[in-house]
Amino acid sequence: MDHAALILQQRGFFRSGKTMESGFRRARLLELCAAIEEHENPLLDALHADLRKSPHEAYASEIGYSLGEIRHALRHLGSWTKPQRRKTPWLAWPASAEVRRDPFGVVLIIGPWNYPLQLLLTPLVSAIAAGNTAVLKPSELAPHTSAVIAEMIRKHFQPEYIAAIEGGRETAEALLREKFDKIFFTGSTAVGREVMAAAARHLTPVTLELGGKSPCIVADDAPVRIAARRIVWGKFMNAGQTCVAPDFVLAHRCIAADLTAAMKSALLEFHGDDPQRSADYGRIINRHHFERLVSMLDGGHSDAADLYIAPSIVDDVTWDSPLMKHEIFGPILPVIVYDDIDEVLHRLEEIPSPLALYLFTGDRALTEKVLSRTRSGGVCVNDTITHIIGRDLPFGGVGDSGMGSYHGRAGFECFSHERAVMRRSTGMDPDFRYPPPKASLAMLKKMMRWFD
Ligand code: NAD
Repeated sequence: MDHAALILQQRGFFRSGKTMESGFRRARLLELCAAIEEHENPLLDALHADLRKSPHEAYASEIGYSLGEIRHALRHLGSWTKPQRRKTPWLAWPASAEVRRDPFGVVLIIGPWNYPLQLLLTPLVSAIAAGNTAVLKPSELAPHTSAVIAEMIRKHFQPEYIAAIEGGRETAEALLREKFDKIFFTGSTAVGREVMAAAARHLTPVTLELGGKSPCIVADDAPVRIAARRIVWGKFMNAGQTCVAPDFVLAHRCIAADLTAAMKSALLEFHGDDPQRSADYGRIINRHHFERLVSMLDGGHSDAADLYIAPSIVDDVTWDSPLMKHEIFGPILPVIVYDDIDEVLHRLEEIPSPLALYLFTGDRALTEKVLSRTRSGGVCVNDTITHIIGRDLPFGGVGDSGMGSYHGRAGFECFSHERAVMRRSTGMDPDFRYPPPKASLAMLKKMMRWFD
């Protein structure tokens, strides 16, 4: 079926009003849960084939995470969908007012390859909870996962409600020529710009979940061993191909040498002296990204046949290093030594707003200073990545790292239109507001001030 026909069918299904019933949404969320559970093994195999994800990592960050999002939505759907009462202005009395959250209609969700399941299904959960129909476009660069997702969706959902369309750039561009009611895109900043331009032609609202260079500041009072373990964990999971991975470390001179040594010993503890043989260390997605990353490295161990790049901590990097030009998105961690936090904050003001910012310190004043002088999608103090695992914090970028947010309630809101509804009484109809004026302009001004 061509794209236009599919979208027409989905629009017809949406207009049937079925997705407005909360019982329908609940049943589809349960169906998605069952679909994922049924496909758990093929999904684990596919994630291993695409990115060499270990079963533990794949379950925690992809399968289990998506199931958790469904359970959370089922638990809260009742309160999310309930219209919220609002106050009415005196001029409108007697009346009542509320905000309803209406679905947009037919939505398009485009996913990346690094967490190819979670980053497609988590927004899908929100889209279903909010009452939309959805077209999914998984990433062609994780072909095994993309195939399992397409099969799973085909088996469990009618295409007029949810459909997965596999393909690459041309497919995405063809889809974007059609009119959707909302587009949710996760991927690179460069492609995000193209998506937004395409959406503008139809005035379709977009949520863009993009990337950036997320800094990790380690202050002189930081507990070095804990900081090292948490940074290494967040950086080298999925071989560094995580949108919120710390991209580079800014280490205070007093602790820099100890921190680097502690990060190297954390690597040894996690993956042994030959990480290529560690079952818990991933691979680079493809040859193109492998070569891009190897060209940034001066030395270090890599194996093209295995798409393996050893986890690499690079000491004493300067701000003008090639490693500081673009998002690294791989297992290379530059460490810049600093003396003065003000200089660091000044430098961070100069780079595009990242998706995450990390700070290791026990100093509240320093934390406040960093928070008030920087911008980023989210922040995690004294850890990496864990700020995105809760469902009560919105997850999204700002500036070059994206716009809009999701997870939990924020996801439901992301796929809903906030619709203001006022209900007025027809019991009385005083003349006051109708022309000709019933009071002087001076009196009108006074009255409007009294009743503000
Ligand atoms: P990408 O932008 O290359 O591709 C993402 C998706 O867009 C794929 O499905 C691809 O087929 C599609 N696409 C490609 N060309 C397109 C076009 N012209 N128009 C529309 N769609 C197009 O990104 P990627 O390489 O898959 O992912 C890596 C990037 O994504 C990194 O920058 C990373 O930081 C970012 N990312 C962000 C998040 C987040 O949650 N904010 C999560 C994961 C990855």
